[in-house]
Amino acid sequence: GATKPPVEDITPKDIFIAVKTTMKFHRSRMDLLMDTWISRNKEQTFIFTDGEDEELQKRTGNVISTNCSAAHSRQALSCKMAVEYDKFIESSMKWFCHVDDDNYVNIRTLVKLLSRYSHTNDVYIGKPSLDRPIQATERISENKMRPVNFWFATGGAGFCISRGLALKMSPWASGGHFMSTAEKIRLPDDCTIGYIIESVLGVPLIRSSLFHSHLENLQQVHQSEIQNQVTLSYGMFENKRNAIIMKGAFSIEEDPSRFRSIHCLLYPDTPWCPQNRTY
Ligand code: UDP
Ligand code: MN
Repeated sequence: GATKPPVEDITPKDIFIAVKTTMKFHRSRMDLLMDTWISRNKEQTFIFTDGEDEELQKRTGNVISTNCSAAHSRQALSCKMAVEYDKFIESSMKWFCHVDDDNYVNIRTLVKLLSRYSHTNDVYIGKPSLDRPIQATERISENKMRPVNFWFATGGAGFCISRGLALKMSPWASGGHFMSTAEKIRLPDDCTIGYIIESVLGVPLIRSSLFHSHLENLQQVHQSEIQNQVTLSYGMFENKRNAIIMKGAFSIEEDPSRFRSIHCLLYPDTPWCPQNRTY
């Protein structure tokens, strides 16, 4: 598509990246992220989890124990998102980006994308998870409801919010408000973000095709376009293994997520990438 020219000179240090995880995925998912993209972005990456883990804490000082339940319930996930939001507001960074623990983040392209917008403007950018607005019911009072329609960016592909917009969200998102807003529409955390931004504040989602979740066919990302994407993912889709197709440093058996191969493509000077192996 048409590319907007940069409007603001930002660096990775201006971006707060929140990774949502849970105790049972620390070894199977977080270790891979720590070995790959997080290792290049330790200062701006914050890991929101639900249990103490010395092994993870040894690798980064930015582990935040949320005190949220480790259940996969709507409430537990909203609780984590609420803590992510509050920690971002506490920081002085210009951009808030949320990702799941099965996302690879390419910081260079993320910086390039966000520098096309001003962090003081209202910016909400990501990939819509549906091809139409979600239809929800807003609870206005005990027995009063009203239908609402809005777009939201799917949390599994990652999304970003400017500080200017995040500050406006505060009455519905800060402190305990995020949880009560989520209860009003009874939808997951990423939908609640979309509800606050589109429905309450009237700010439209900016669609980007550079964010990817495993709920889309990742085989459609062309090999030559991998380095231009902002987020990638892996996992299951329609009961089948779903990952980026890439001839890379490692075989599918060694690197089923393809994240290690992608990392070697982006950072070939990494010590464990093939050309640097001394054994
Ligand atoms: N997750 C969580 N608590 C749970 C289960 C999952 O915080 O009890 C997180 C997980 O770490 C990931 C996100 O929620 O960041 C989505 O989980 P998953 O990828 O397993 O499910 P999906 O919704 O993608 O199918
Ligand atoms: Mn997932």
